[in-house]
Amino acid sequence: MKIIPLIQEGHGQMKAWRQDIHAHPELGFEEARTAELVARQLESFGIEVHRGVGKTGVVGVLKNGNSARRIGLRADMDALPIDEANTFAHRSQHAGRMHACGHDGHTAMLLGAAQYLARTRRFDGTVNFIFQPAEEGLGGALAMIADGLFERFPCDSLFGMHNRPKLAVGRFSVHRGPMMAGGAFFDIDITGVGAHGARPESSVDPLMVGVQIASTLQTIVSRNIRPVDTAVLSVTQFHAGDAYNVIPQTARLSGTVRAFSHDVMALIERNMQRVASGVAESMGARASVDFRKNFAPLVNDLAESDFAAGICAELVGAENVVRDMPLIMASEDFSYMLEKVPGCFVNIGNGDVEGACEVHNPAYDFNDAALPLGASFFAKVVERKLAPA
Ligand SMILES: [Zn+2]
Ligand SMILES: [Zn+2]
Repeated sequence: MKIIPLIQEGHGQMKAWRQDIHAHPELGFEEARTAELVARQLESFGIEVHRGVGKTGVVGVLKNGNSARRIGLRADMDALPIDEANTFAHRSQHAGRMHACGHDGHTAMLLGAAQYLARTRRFDGTVNFIFQPAEEGLGGALAMIADGLFERFPCDSLFGMHNRPKLAVGRFSVHRGPMMAGGAFFDIDITGVGAHGARPESSVDPLMVGVQIASTLQTIVSRNIRPVDTAVLSVTQFHAGDAYNVIPQTARLSGTVRAFSHDVMALIERNMQRVASGVAESMGARASVDFRKNFAPLVNDLAESDFAAGICAELVGAENVVRDMPLIMASEDFSYMLEKVPGCFVNIGNGDVEGACEVHNPAYDFNDAALPLGASFFAKVVERKLAPA
């Protein structure tokens, strides 16, 4: 591995930032402490800092030389509502909150790159360091864009990175074109008629309606979508009732949909409306659907993907850059930024030891061994893109 030596020297510092952020996880749009840590560090490197971009987002701007070329590097900062199962010293200090997706590591890697670039300045142009809030479904990327991210901090190209469990540390995966699914969240509110638990004949039981809706929803992907199109519909929550002897009046089903095109997503939404209202009506109840698209499909620019893969190959050798990984059904809201600016989202290996933990698992931890490699990637992207004439 050809990690940049000065970045390797800063490994201990990056690890300290990462573990500090891990111990103090904050949910989307609540990243006050994390954003302040990021802002203070950037200021200490001599980088111009803009706080509160998209509520809790932070942007650092580093200019060098006279070139008008501009590049954006993005990391996400938010944690998840999960109770951490780990017992190591840097485990979450907050019950019910945890960095289970490695955004602590992404933030530390981008800080490491910023420190190196501010110190060495071997580039000609402007680097925008974008620290995004609320990636996990709350719309942080859209909030930054709505706050004028690319008007205030214009970028010609844009790069981001996510760790990937079960890919060895020292390996990257780079896709050309579509890479990750677009995603939506939905809530289906069912209204029946509440009654005594021993008098079902007086009720329209919203639980029974919910069970039928959940079951029929499973025919959308299997019967309404072309088999060659890829989609997922998962019902992940079913809430109803508070008592043993009460048939509740209402119930709520919630879940997520993933697809690789805007058309397939729209088709699923239409069919969900039909199934929910039709099934409810057939049982004497009512149902309303709230369908919220919160992730676009993530599509990497072809040229920028090849560029990013070249940087990865420089760092770890072409044999360690996977170019043919299957599509990823998970979503990522960096997709909205890539709809505005051409760029590439790269996966960096988080380790492939036996039983390596997946993201969003209560036993997950970002692998600190990957920090210098990720920071070196960001640094080299800048030194190549903005190479002095
Ligand atoms: Zn996640
Ligand atoms: Zn993530």
